[in-house]
Amino acid sequence: MNLDLSEMQTMLQDTLGRAFKDVASSHRAAEKAGLDATAWQVFTGLGLPLLRVEERLGGAGLGLLDAILVAESVAENLALIPANDAIVCAGLLAVLETPLAMAALEELGQGKIVALALHDAVHSPQQLIAFGAAAKAILFRQGNEVRLMRPGAVQREPNIGGLPTARIDLAGASSEVLAEGYRAAEAFEAAREEWKLLNAAALVAMGGRALKDAAAYARDRHAFGRPIGSYQGLAHPLADASAEIDGAGLLIRRTVEAIGTGRSDAAALVGMCSWWASETAPSATTKAMRVFGGYGMTMEYDAQAYFRRATALRLLGGDPQAELQTIADRLWADISAPLPAAGEVGITFEYGASADAARDAAEAVFAKHVTPELQRWAFESTDGYDPVLYAALASEGLLFPDWPTELGGGAGAFERAAVHDVFVRHLWPQVVVATTDMLGKMILHFGSERAKAEILPRLASGQTAGALCYSEPSCGSDIFAARTRAVRDGDDWIIDGQKIFTSQGHIAEYGLLIARTGVGEKHASVTVFAVPLDQPGYACNPMDTVGDELTNTTFYENVRVPDAYRLGGVNEGTRVLAAALAIEQGAAEHWVAALDEMLAAGVEWARTAQRAGRNAIDMPSVRARLAAVATRMQVLDVLSRRTVWAGATGQARKHYGPMAKLFGSESWVKCGSDLMEMAAPDTLLQGYSALGRIEKLYRRSVPSTIYAGSSEIQRSLIAEAGLGLPRSRS
Ligand SMILES: Cc1cc2nc3c(=O)[nH]c(=O)nc-3n(C[C@H](O)[C@H](O)[C@H](O)COP(=O)(O)OP(=O)(O)OC[C@H]3O[C@@H](n4cnc5c(N)ncnc54)[C@H](O)[C@@H]3O)c2cc1C
Repeated sequence: MNLDLSEMQTMLQDTLGRAFKDVASSHRAAEKAGLDATAWQVFTGLGLPLLRVEERLGGAGLGLLDAILVAESVAENLALIPANDAIVCAGLLAVLETPLAMAALEELGQGKIVALALHDAVHSPQQLIAFGAAAKAILFRQGNEVRLMRPGAVQREPNIGGLPTARIDLAGASSEVLAEGYRAAEAFEAAREEWKLLNAAALVAMGGRALKDAAAYARDRHAFGRPIGSYQGLAHPLADASAEIDGAGLLIRRTVEAIGTGRSDAAALVGMCSWWASETAPSATTKAMRVFGGYGMTMEYDAQAYFRRATALRLLGGDPQAELQTIADRLWADISAPLPAAGEVGITFEYGASADAARDAAEAVFAKHVTPELQRWAFESTDGYDPVLYAALASEGLLFPDWPTELGGGAGAFERAAVHDVFVRHLWPQVVVATTDMLGKMILHFGSERAKAEILPRLASGQTAGALCYSEPSCGSDIFAARTRAVRDGDDWIIDGQKIFTSQGHIAEYGLLIARTGVGEKHASVTVFAVPLDQPGYACNPMDTVGDELTNTTFYENVRVPDAYRLGGVNEGTRVLAAALAIEQGAAEHWVAALDEMLAAGVEWARTAQRAGRNAIDMPSVRARLAAVATRMQVLDVLSRRTVWAGATGQARKHYGPMAKLFGSESWVKCGSDLMEMAAPDTLLQGYSALGRIEKLYRRSVPSTIYAGSSEIQRSLIAEAGLGLPRSRS
């Protein structure tokens, strides 16, 4: 797995950043003039129109990802130039390679503006072309012909994006056929798919930049004696938007890789990028604009320009919601689409060969062990703790792959993530693995040699499990306000107090417990222990929850824990728990699993159910809902993979995990609600069926926005670490 850009791509990004930064202030004048002539000069001067054209035809021969970097840079600096049209048209002309196409390519290389008409002229003879009034030529498709027309002087249509838009009568004016036949039409469609990706990249870049500008303003601007960024009412919507935008940017990169490797769902991914960018960028720019208050509404501030331009770009291709039908066609009706060549990609979201081997090995264990009866038990189980399955995985080094070799591990984070994918595919709950993993890692990092020797082998073998004993009746989010006390008694500590929501408290032999060990500032007076729970004084009372997830209230009365089981220094629990929480916020498989399971259940139902006399899967409303779930699932998957990759390569950022958790749990609620509506009223019913799975998962969705750090806490973490906004919590 590698998400780092190559040296060349980083250089390209830097060059573009410098080049377009200088023209960024000219967008107001450019809107009046209809084009940013200086920016266009910069663009053509760098040879960017022919970026994707093979070197033998005079181009730079660069890849699709490079084109995306260009689209991002042009858009975030609001350069009013037809960059995407130029790159796509040049690529198309080069693929056609007829003499007329070559002549047009030469003109383009010399700086003539060629615009792309997005729809087949057979069905849409008159089209609004974004840069139509600035274009010297329009490239369009008419049936199986790719044609070029020279529009001459056309009237510019004032529009929300300030673009030099014109309505062009493609059928009426004379045009020449550059190429014809099935292949020509296919090349045009591939070019259109490329345009969609570049347009999505431009949208995402504008959304990202608008958020960044808004965050900078929110740090400086004060109201009621505080920076406005410290108000959650402002910071939290920005955090939501920045998770969505980060996800969109990653999805575009993932799609480029999918095109490059010929993944079967690559065409569907292009549709997802297009729809998701059109959903999220305007919403981000609107939220950003509001941060500036009245100033944001004035033409002096760029905030409104991002909002207007993003709105225009999202609507250029028609109703963005129509893309959901395209996604559904490509995913569930086997309708393919020609795609552009990806060229050199460089990045990969795949975990790699060793992780694939671990995945295959785990698949084999599941296949051997998991019977239909056990599968049903897992459906009803709240934790999926099956000691036999756990022992089988442990014996193959697959239960905790990234633990040390002597504990049966020896692999890394990618292998761990790949094995967790197998849990997901088998719809097997992984809560106990996750909590035990956290306890084990804290012992590894902070524990004494005795704790390591006595506890870790038992956890590693799968014969027992760990629980997280953080939350108390009086505090959950405010975790360091714990009141449970630990008092030193010789070589031991005595624990007294009460915890709540100790989910594995009825299974676990050890608890990762935070207790107050001092007086004074709350962060400086807590200590963390690995507490043996199998002893008198520990009591565990079950509590049912709305999602059937069994959790517990746990009581500690004179519970003894050896000092050797203390993790970290006395009163240094904050540091230990911060590390544990980072692990909890680093693994998003749980949320990926939920969306995956809901989507699979929704598709299973739609393929078999009848609605209004036809198959449910053929109904536009059903297809749209499923396509939206599939898209969110892909966005979540890339956010999750980024967290894994960043952690494994020492590039972890504090907001990556919270973004995946926030987006995952909130998407779970949203998609659950949508799917409940999709098949209503049958979704009211419970049971071991596709709809029963949706019903169960919907009930589980809301708790998921609370446990492992509530959505509000995640938003604050993203606002602080990702957007640099002031802390809103003490
Ligand atoms: C099914 C389930 C399983 C759980 N499993 C475990 C477990 O195994 N171990 C464990 O220790 N805990 C567990 N929890 C507890 C969970 O971590 C807490 O419920 C959670 O941290 C919230 O704490 P709280 O319930 O005390 O709510 P509070 O912290 O009182 O929060 C109440 C509301 O206020 C909001 N809020 C709080 N602080 C802020 C703030 N600074 N800004 C804005 N809003 C804020 C919260 O988002 C929430 O909506 C589990 C919970 C559930 C539902």
